[in-house]
Amino acid sequence: MKHFFTSLFLLAGLALNAQTIQRCATHDVYLHNAAQYPAYGEAVQNTYQAISNWVANNGGQKSGGVYQIPVVVHVVYLTPDQDLPDSLIYSQIAVLNEDYRRMNADTINTRAEFLPVAADAEIEFYLATTDPDGNPTNGITRTAGTPSFGTYTPFDDNVKFDSLGGKNAWPTNKYLNIWVCDLVFGFGILGYAYPPIGNVPNWNIGDAPADPGKQGVVIHYPVFGRNNPLAVSPLDIVNRGRTVTHEVGHFLGLRHIWGDGDCSMDDGIADTPPAASDAQQICDWTKNTCTESPGPELPDNIENYMDYAADSCMNMFTQGQVNAMRYVLEDFRQELVGLPVSLQSTSVVAGLIGLFPNPAKDYIQITTLSADVEITQPITIVDVHGRTCLTSVSKSVDISSLSEGMYWARIKTNRGEVIRKFIKI
Ligand SMILES: [Zn+2]
Repeated sequence: MKHFFTSLFLLAGLALNAQTIQRCATHDVYLHNAAQYPAYGEAVQNTYQAISNWVANNGGQKSGGVYQIPVVVHVVYLTPDQDLPDSLIYSQIAVLNEDYRRMNADTINTRAEFLPVAADAEIEFYLATTDPDGNPTNGITRTAGTPSFGTYTPFDDNVKFDSLGGKNAWPTNKYLNIWVCDLVFGFGILGYAYPPIGNVPNWNIGDAPADPGKQGVVIHYPVFGRNNPLAVSPLDIVNRGRTVTHEVGHFLGLRHIWGDGDCSMDDGIADTPPAASDAQQICDWTKNTCTESPGPELPDNIENYMDYAADSCMNMFTQGQVNAMRYVLEDFRQELVGLPVSLQSTSVVAGLIGLFPNPAKDYIQITTLSADVEITQPITIVDVHGRTCLTSVSKSVDISSLSEGMYWARIKTNRGEVIRKFIKI
């Protein structure tokens, strides 16, 4: 009951601003959950810190090529018009693929000062072809919903559960689940996502926010897909499917570029300039709320997908954001891209372990980036099948005997096992 009243209180606060588009409730949902479950808040913050450490210390190195993520879209409708046609769902998958491969037509609108950091994420999406039981599927489920409390809200997460009048997730470690429904307060909130969290000692998995069944993205039905005919004013400025691009960014560990605060708050990514506020659904190319130190002076990056500009002015991720998302796929959501769970780090300190160079020919060097983290065991090198190829008691590992290909270094530390992928050339 406490949870219910808390939800109403928070929603009342959001409703005050419902005359303007709120866009995204990801941060509000995080604050709501962290207030109820402090250990959850700590786990999310630890994961953000690991991501930030990784980008700062290792982020310039690429490994692995293009990742492909299977998607299931759960259409949960209350009226016939909310039962969106397959064609809109296909168009949304196309938008994701354009935006995450930087093949969107409007890359020409990226301002010159941001071209050096604008990047192809090399992440692709496809509607799942096999369901959790192994049967063929088109990757779309359709449910006539009966929401608890009469509506779907971000704080109750009721669209994600059969028992609450929604639709249960497919295993969220194997599929990107996207629920499409009528989110409360109509055009006020357009979507929300759950960020990745690492394994945390003493975490009670039964606590609500850690429920794996909540991992995924929820989208307000009129803004799902490209040129959704239901995206009428004032939603016509968000009709290009970029709400989903934005929320999937959160699901892959990105934060808002203004850090949900003033110039002192950051998103943990160095190549997105600081900002003191969001872009407020408009395209103000003169917006420049913070001074860069050190320079050069840059305007706010309103064309970034993780800001709140109108869909027509969004067109880029930065290289730092790309590195963050790929790190999340390699360390926190590995099964999503087909990497075996046995090659999954069990520690949120993964971002504090460096591996250089990568790709590598003769040697890789394993480093710890914090005095709190110690390597406690010989380092084991395994291949794509999980077979052990060699072990090394030295942090400088001789890999000259390996044939070319993809490998993982299993590194036991005093704070859990960390696994780093590398390419042998
Ligand atoms: Zn957001």
